[in-house]
Amino acid sequence: MRGVCERASKTQVCAESILILHLVCVGMERHGSLPKLLHTSLEDYHTQDSLVYEEVFFDFGTVEKFVQWRKQVGLLGTRLTAGNFRWKIIFITVHSKVNRRDLFAGKDESGGDVAMEVEDFMNCIFIPTLDKVVYASTLFMLTCGHLVAFEESYMAMKKAIMHLRPEYTIMFTAPDFISAVAKVFVVTYSIQVLIQGHDLLAIFQDLLNISMDLRMHADVIVFYIRGLLAPKAPFGARSRTLNVTIPPSIVGYRYSWYHTHRRPWGKALPIRCPKCGAIRPWSRSKRAQEGSHAKARAMAASECEEEVTNAKAQVSTCLGCRSEVRTEPLCDAYEIQGDKFSGWIKYTICAAEL
Ligand SMILES: [Zn+2]
Ligand SMILES: [Zn+2]
Repeated sequence: MRGVCERASKTQVCAESILILHLVCVGMERHGSLPKLLHTSLEDYHTQDSLVYEEVFFDFGTVEKFVQWRKQVGLLGTRLTAGNFRWKIIFITVHSKVNRRDLFAGKDESGGDVAMEVEDFMNCIFIPTLDKVVYASTLFMLTCGHLVAFEESYMAMKKAIMHLRPEYTIMFTAPDFISAVAKVFVVTYSIQVLIQGHDLLAIFQDLLNISMDLRMHADVIVFYIRGLLAPKAPFGARSRTLNVTIPPSIVGYRYSWYHTHRRPWGKALPIRCPKCGAIRPWSRSKRAQEGSHAKARAMAASECEEEVTNAKAQVSTCLGCRSEVRTEPLCDAYEIQGDKFSGWIKYTICAAEL
């Protein structure tokens, strides 16, 4: 049996076999390297064959390159599947195109960037036999937030997740995501989930609470697919209760950090007042007065239940010129996890059977 399990002081330390696979778009500076940090953090608990790190550059920007990629991935997937890892942590480092929300697939003949629609991209990068590796894995998308900022690409990503079935998918919404802000998140994740065996969703909030840099920078989206077949027999008492009679289902949450002076409803206020230019001038946000801003209300009417979000609108006032900024929550159902000054809003953005 691979891996070691020992009792260290009070906590049970389990080191089951782990694969870290980093897929990097060719020509990208690597946005830092969270995957390497994860690997370093885990090394203390592992022997060489129970912790495997693979970094693969991808480029399927032309038909010829795609044929090559298919060959390469076929071998890679077979080799990694034979490893029979208990945990498979996959990172994709790639840029998304600002205006078209597509993801970069590589370079064309003349070295220009080639972008692909999200669903095509996901199906190409996880072409067989790498599809077996992504199944029941934990997938971190290290890409700028344009991927999830637009309904169209967000829906395409969701479709790809439902098809490829990683157990967890984690994404960040910052337009210019800096992976350095997720360092604490990744290290704590490695210890809490991969070593101590806590359930990721159960401790997600705790991971966010200590990730101080992350909260001002990006919302965090997590998808979870319940009811997948375990990659191998669960270890000891830490078994996941699997019931094959229950069809797999997916849930998705979006966590936004709110702060009364800076991020009412988790949406960052501008650093400067757009009217008078004062820096950080905002008062503590207050609930909007009923009947005010009739125009704004009419404009917000299009998407979701206008009444509900309007009833919850917050108004922040510039202490310099008294101009106001109005903020509303997303349409999705949510829970507040924090106090009246700051904390996290947990939106349920998806819940469906597969
Ligand atoms: Zn980018
Ligand atoms: Zn002002």
